Amino acid sequence: MPPSINYDSSRELRIFLEEQGLGMRKKYGQNFLIDREARERILDALEFRKGDGLWEIGPGLGAMTRGLLDRGALVRAFEIDPGFIRILKELWGGREDFILIEGDVLKTWPSGDGGEPYLLGNLPYTIGAALLGELIEKKRFFKRMVITIQREVARRMTAGPGSGDYTSLSVLCASAYTIRPVQVLRPSSFYPAPHVDSQVLRFDLRTDMDPSSYPAFFYSLVRSLFSSRRKTVKNNLSGFVASLKEGENRDAAGGLGKGRIREITGEVLGASRLSPERRAETLSLEDFLTLAGVLEGYHGHY
Ligand code: SAM
Repeated sequence: MPPSINYDSSRELRIFLEEQGLGMRKKYGQNFLIDREARERILDALEFRKGDGLWEIGPGLGAMTRGLLDRGALVRAFEIDPGFIRILKELWGGREDFILIEGDVLKTWPSGDGGEPYLLGNLPYTIGAALLGELIEKKRFFKRMVITIQREVARRMTAGPGSGDYTSLSVLCASAYTIRPVQVLRPSSFYPAPHVDSQVLRFDLRTDMDPSSYPAFFYSLVRSLFSSRRKTVKNNLSGFVASLKEGENRDAAGGLGKGRIREITGEVLGASRLSPERRAETLSLEDFLTLAGVLEGYHGHY
């Protein structure tokens, strides 16, 4: 008999975990969403249809998974905790609409993954930002994602130029998705209660731009320009130019001389119509795309 789990009650979850000899591991950011209404709202926000393919990150004991399967999704789920994996297999192992990928999602994402269009994750705080950044940089895009994440990380994902929360992650997220807040979740919505608020965000793949066609340099350039926040764009950009490996005009060691680096940096900024004294946190997505496009035009002629 598959276990019966009451996902709405912290008391019953605690007893279930005890009976099963399972503990909660802080290092995996384990907090179960016990708020049934919030779970329904998250499922609604995904707007998938019966038969649609969907990734779930960190199903835990399956609070969201049950709703996904009930609504007819074909679920591929990543879970790292061996105890939860055992329970998930007892619940849905052998079903055709549930595939479990065991281990760390940062390492187990399948190559040639079949391209499921939706992604759901009540994301462990420990990996949320890294995972989203990596998926975007690898140009692994989804039609829609609904992510629940620490509120502070959500602020960084949604911040615009000029805000103290604006980081390379904000630019990456905006480069591929339109992001809307769905709901703020208080600690009491979870068992065990975390110390901070969480935020549910809905990400829709942009249709006004084609993120898969961005210049190859775009992602590394964005990261590089934010690498030293206090430095000007000119200084961070010259570091990036110096790190470029290919092209002409190399010295004996294969590097570019300081003078040439300065020249290229100035030319790229001029052609992008950007003042060298600006800082990355004031640049818009369009500024970054222009810079990356100009740099790409220079490729092979450094
Ligand atoms: N989805 C469940 C819910 O909403 O109640 C549990 C969410 S809990 C915040 C995060 C889940 O992600 C846990 O089950 C945890 O074991 C899993 N997890 C943490 N790090 C992971 C990783 N690197 N790869 C795969 N799963 C991970």
